[in-house]
Amino acid sequence: MQATMNMDTSAKTLNTQSSLKASEVEEIIYYDFTHNEKLWSSSPTSRYTTTLGESLIATVNKRSKLYSARRVGSYDFEVDFVGDENNEVEIYDHDGDDLLAAPLPLFRRTHKIHIDSDGVMYCGCCAFESCGIFCEHQKAVSDFIYQHLNLTFDGFTKHDIALRYNAAYMHLAYKQTTPNYLNAMFHHLSKNKVKGPRLQVKILDSIAIEEPSTILPASLRLKNYDGSKITIDNEYFDNMHTLTQESTMSNVAVPDDFEVIFSQSIDDTEFNFQQNVDARSALKSMVDVAYADADDIGEEAVKKMKFILSEFRSWCNEKRNVCRSKEENDDRVYVPMSKGGYKGKAKRVYNTYHMP
Ligand SMILES: [Zn+2]
Repeated sequence: MQATMNMDTSAKTLNTQSSLKASEVEEIIYYDFTHNEKLWSSSPTSRYTTTLGESLIATVNKRSKLYSARRVGSYDFEVDFVGDENNEVEIYDHDGDDLLAAPLPLFRRTHKIHIDSDGVMYCGCCAFESCGIFCEHQKAVSDFIYQHLNLTFDGFTKHDIALRYNAAYMHLAYKQTTPNYLNAMFHHLSKNKVKGPRLQVKILDSIAIEEPSTILPASLRLKNYDGSKITIDNEYFDNMHTLTQESTMSNVAVPDDFEVIFSQSIDDTEFNFQQNVDARSALKSMVDVAYADADDIGEEAVKKMKFILSEFRSWCNEKRNVCRSKEENDDRVYVPMSKGGYKGKAKRVYNTYHMP
């Protein structure tokens, strides 16, 4: 669709595009329904799910080994990230150590899981409520309960995921060619939404109940910053995302200038250059503001900025000369191809430097 098209042509194009997309999705689902052998997944759900659903489930099942569960109440459990000593599971999200050098704050988290009288498991991370597939924390708790029964937990079943991941439902439900009794069954299923994955066994009384962990302020749960250096009031910090609603964590009233305090603390933050933050990323907003200011003020500001930058370049050259005198034996000329530090003697020329 293009801006020059008239309304009729645009509408027709949109219809054609959506029909094409619908047929493409239908084809994928038909394939999932007719080819239900998934050699890459051995979970009990694999024969019944769509490829997308099963790939999500396989990842969750694999990652559940990274978590350790403990019982803190008759029907309550806590799950912590413990990692993988043998490196069997690829750790790719903020639970691992990969992003510890990131400037954004990362927090240690303990997930709380409650099991209701029907055996339905609810996790504080709300993964099931948001995407319809159980989380690694629920899987870790099931593993833990099965271990105490000397059983192996094979995984949750097709009854423990949202209906939209069921290949048969997606292919057959509400189709004219589907027999009425089957349509009625699918309709019944879609009206009775799955609340969460269900625990199929009883929780043994012999599993020791430990003390629940205390709720720590956010600054003490920081992974990549020293919490003791954060000056912002912890009570307010924890309530930051609940400015529009009553806090569930404490009854502390949030002052009006709280957002200002938070913004200032972010402005005051000095990122450690050892943490792989390159100069372009660290200074981009500052340089952009300087450009805007220069444009705003006019020629005088542009001259001033040029002078300051020239001074900076002279300073850099001096610095480089000091470094170079330490490496007198190295006569080679380097041409930098990456973000790595430049060590050569030849002056690097930036095209933009000579542009008006
Ligand atoms: Zn969870």
